Amino acid sequence: MNYRGRFAPSPTGLLHAGSLAAALGSWLCARHAGGQWLVRMENIDPPREVPGSAAAILAALPMFGLVPDGGVVYQSSRLAAYDAAFEQLRRADLVFPCWCSRNDLATATGLHRDGRCIAQVDESRAPAWRVRVPDEEVAFVDGLQGPQGQHLREAVGDFVIRRVEGFYSYQLACVVDDAWQGVTEVVRGSDLLDSTPRQIWLQRCLGLPTPHYLHLPLVLDDHGRKLSKSERALEVDPAHPLPGLRRALAFLGAEADETATNVPDLLHAALTHFDPRKLTQCSGHRVA
Ligand code: GLU
Repeated sequence: MNYRGRFAPSPTGLLHAGSLAAALGSWLCARHAGGQWLVRMENIDPPREVPGSAAAILAALPMFGLVPDGGVVYQSSRLAAYDAAFEQLRRADLVFPCWCSRNDLATATGLHRDGRCIAQVDESRAPAWRVRVPDEEVAFVDGLQGPQGQHLREAVGDFVIRRVEGFYSYQLACVVDDAWQGVTEVVRGSDLLDSTPRQIWLQRCLGLPTPHYLHLPLVLDDHGRKLSKSERALEVDPAHPLPGLRRALAFLGAEADETATNVPDLLHAALTHFDPRKLTQCSGHRVA
């Protein structure tokens, strides 16, 4: 099958050093493989959405030379597909309604592991919906970080795929759309490394293919902390794209041509020398 990669930002702020590195890393891998590169706007969490950020991210990407193949998919337009996946899981009895409060969960060590709700059924209010997880390790080989595994029952428990408010979770929407868009390679930041076993489990429940995964190292601040989107040090300026691109390339471990004076030349040179095996690995970051 032909390589198809994607960048899937959430509209929770502007493009920053971390998301630019993820966008560039996925773009480099896709172009290196002669494949397609898609962009999907993950706007299914209205409470977390920052107004204007979806448009700002999409306007910034081409200024950094990152132009998707085909139109942008907005998850807000895909609710019927998530409904259908949810119904499929419900018919197969793989999910259960849950009325647990934080207190209920606290007494259950914070995790749901019984495949059923431990609180009283309360028909007067909407439940969250959780998927039952297996009592076994879900393993995969990451394209950069090597073998990974997570015992879902111990690590995350039965996890929410539909919230009380009716919003579908990132995990469900991501899995449904990666399959629907024919994504073969997921290249993203390693903050999502521990989401991958949950996504693989959902793929198995829904009978969907599992793409290859490659998790890029996280952009950390000078103190080794994950950068938050508010920090100024993180800002990248689409109007002056070269410094941000050079920083992202250096961070990824990809070569940057110091003599390039424009974006196409810099990206062309980076692609010419690009080798996914030379990307920077995360130090000591494993799911298990
Ligand atoms: N939307 C997610 C985020 O911005 C990333 C999803 C993904 O790449 O799977 O954190």
